Amino acid sequence: MSEKPDKVKDRLPEGKSNMSRNGKAAVFLDRDGTIIEDRGHIRDMSDVVFFPETFEALQKLQDHFLLFIVTNQVGVAEAIITPGDVDRINHHIVSTLAERRIVITDVYVCPHRRTDNCQCIKPKPYFLIKAAERYGIDLCVSFTVGDHPHDIQLAQNADARGIYVLSGHGRKHLAELSDGTEVVAGIKQAAEKIVSTCRVEKYRNRHKQAKEKSILNLDVASELWLRTDLGPVPRHASEAAKARNVKNGK
Ligand SMILES: [Mg+2]
Ligand SMILES: [Zn+2]
Repeated sequence: MSEKPDKVKDRLPEGKSNMSRNGKAAVFLDRDGTIIEDRGHIRDMSDVVFFPETFEALQKLQDHFLLFIVTNQVGVAEAIITPGDVDRINHHIVSTLAERRIVITDVYVCPHRRTDNCQCIKPKPYFLIKAAERYGIDLCVSFTVGDHPHDIQLAQNADARGIYVLSGHGRKHLAELSDGTEVVAGIKQAAEKIVSTCRVEKYRNRHKQAKEKSILNLDVASELWLRTDLGPVPRHASEAAKARNVKNGK
């Protein structure tokens, strides 16, 4: 089936193509293979296994982004799992994250088969547009993270930016990616990459670099001080003056 995914701008109501400008930024996370291990159609809590880096990564991301989970659960359409199973598992995931103070703003599930031709299956941007409208999100400054090429096409279809992870099925589908796709090892590296694009973070880094530079200068100063044989490095200028006076016998 040749599928021409809708572009966000085609889906927004007339005259509202800028409605998401200056909105909040979000990260739309795939579930299986991205934040937890891909264990097929999960029905049992015991099959929910978070990647060890997930918690820290999401904590880092939520400093700057609203977090969402967007997941295709074809097992529902295939009657392997029920919608209730999916809800229960998602609730368990969200509350486990909440215990670590991680807030998932919303969870979006497509329970259909690809052949059902539904509106919500990834890479259709339906859920991202829904989130943008409901939570005031600017998709142009938002990201998707996932281990399937659909997660990247999802970003493209929503005018967002996709980060592909090699966890889950990432390695298996690597060859299907289009050129220029941003590929990282896992959720940890995805978070680092996303956060590094933030203005606040860029400012912090610049500040940190400047601070490191000034420490460097201080070291040069201390070395000069030591070379002039004026005793230990003073903490303040006043101490420096005192030390100089002592040296000069005043
Ligand atoms: Mg996945
Ligand atoms: Zn669907």
